[in-house]
Amino acid sequence: MAITQAEIDRLASAPVAPRKLLIEGKWVDGQGGETTVLSPINGQKLTTTAAASAEDVARAVASARAAFDDGRWSRMAPAGRKAVLHRLADLIEKHTLDLAVLGVRDNGTDIGMALKAEPGSAAGTFRYYAEGIDKVYGEIAPTADNILALVHREPVGVVAAIVPWNFPLMIGAWKIAPALAAGNSIVLKPAETASLSLIRLAELALEAGVPPGVFNVVTGPGRITGEALALSMDVDVMVFTGSGPTGRRLLQYSAQSNLKRCYLELGGKSPNIVFADAPDLAAAAKAAATAIFRNAGQVCVAGSRLLVEAAVHDEFVAALSKAASAMKLGNPLDLATQIGAVNSEVQLEGNLGFVADARKEGGEIVLGGNRALSETGGYYMEPTVVAGVQPSHRLFREEVFGPVLAVTPFTTEAEAASLANATDFGLAAGVWTANLSRAHRMVRAIRSGIVHVNTYGGSDNTVPLGGMKQSGNGHDKSLHALDKYTELKTAWIQL
Ligand code: NAD
Repeated sequence: MAITQAEIDRLASAPVAPRKLLIEGKWVDGQGGETTVLSPINGQKLTTTAAASAEDVARAVASARAAFDDGRWSRMAPAGRKAVLHRLADLIEKHTLDLAVLGVRDNGTDIGMALKAEPGSAAGTFRYYAEGIDKVYGEIAPTADNILALVHREPVGVVAAIVPWNFPLMIGAWKIAPALAAGNSIVLKPAETASLSLIRLAELALEAGVPPGVFNVVTGPGRITGEALALSMDVDVMVFTGSGPTGRRLLQYSAQSNLKRCYLELGGKSPNIVFADAPDLAAAAKAAATAIFRNAGQVCVAGSRLLVEAAVHDEFVAALSKAASAMKLGNPLDLATQIGAVNSEVQLEGNLGFVADARKEGGEIVLGGNRALSETGGYYMEPTVVAGVQPSHRLFREEVFGPVLAVTPFTTEAEAASLANATDFGLAAGVWTANLSRAHRMVRAIRSGIVHVNTYGGSDNTVPLGGMKQSGNGHDKSLHALDKYTELKTAWIQL
């Protein structure tokens, strides 16, 4: 059934009740007070969320541990967990619109994208791992004749998941679904500015039959709640998506505490490389605009560096800028909007700082560069294209995580590959060429977790997503993700 603007407006005008912590299946106040959640749409107070103190976090971890140890979920037959996770996917689908609208209200993603990328994607992820988990087998090792050597795959125990404010449901599901499918208990720490849809997901998980204590939620500041979770002596695995500086801290916390395994999905500065022989330059220009400007650039795999062959540089930048200007920037709850709000004032200020530095370093602002729609009180920014960006410039090397594209020309394939790899990141890339051999050479040459060819940004649950270099370690999605949530145990049996 088609979704109408009137339905969205009705849901968006409903007040949002203050949210609590979920510990041992009960919604409880946080001892750390509360966090005010501002709407990025108009800068107004939306609601509050509970702030978990270190003691709250300890209780959430203890609840996850008790649930794991008594086997209420960890020893349930995989087919049983599968049924519950399918029920959760059913509930997410049933509540698609209210989950999407709630998410837009605190994170600012445009509703069209939120509907597809948030509940839509999360439901699919729960189904994918629900279906996968009773098809994963242990092994019998090919060893000596008088030995039976079995390799068991067991859940790791208590998983802590710390997630960012962009696409909280999608990214949350990439971690929660495989962790629960494998039989673990979870303590989830959403981002301060975008936790509402994940808190609702936890409510739906209880309704679906995930036993109390198996899925706990602690909201609160990263430096208090997140830090307490990461320093816990009883968390077995920490899975994280967020910025590089926080990722580094998590590794330190692991070293300072119990050496918990730490899997990091971090930032990117992904090159989108256009050769003059691209099959359809006009289509490539539109795709390059979408690659950076959808969700106001707040996409980990955003094509934030455009490397374009000098022979077509000017015409390509003109076509891309035209496509970007045609994208509708506005209220993210409006179905016609293609670029919604930036998540917070802090993030917006940071974006504008990158533009100011690019100007100082000699970049040419071809499009945008300014705050937009300030009369709304919300956080909006014009799609911004900066040409003449050199590898030494800040805009070439550092992640903005906003709607700012750096453009750099190249002349040879070798130079394109070298520029592509000339940052500390290695998350994603795009290559546009009609030359099949060149496409494969570039896929080999670029050090990133995914390389798109003649498209940008696509993927689904069948393929892993992870970073090389300082974009992280470990992978979300695909059956490979189960490696993070399972332990291998050998049984060596003398016959
Ligand atoms: P962030 O690192 O500031 O925050 C992420 C989470 O970490 C939040 O929940 C925050 O509260 C928590 N946190 C902050 N400090 C902490 C601490 N000291 N201890 C424990 N937890 C702490 O990142 P963000 O601004 O929310 O997200 C944007 C970043 O995420 C960008 O760099 C983006 O590229 C990255 N990202 C990566 C992927 C990927 O798959 N690789 C996907 C989406 C976003």
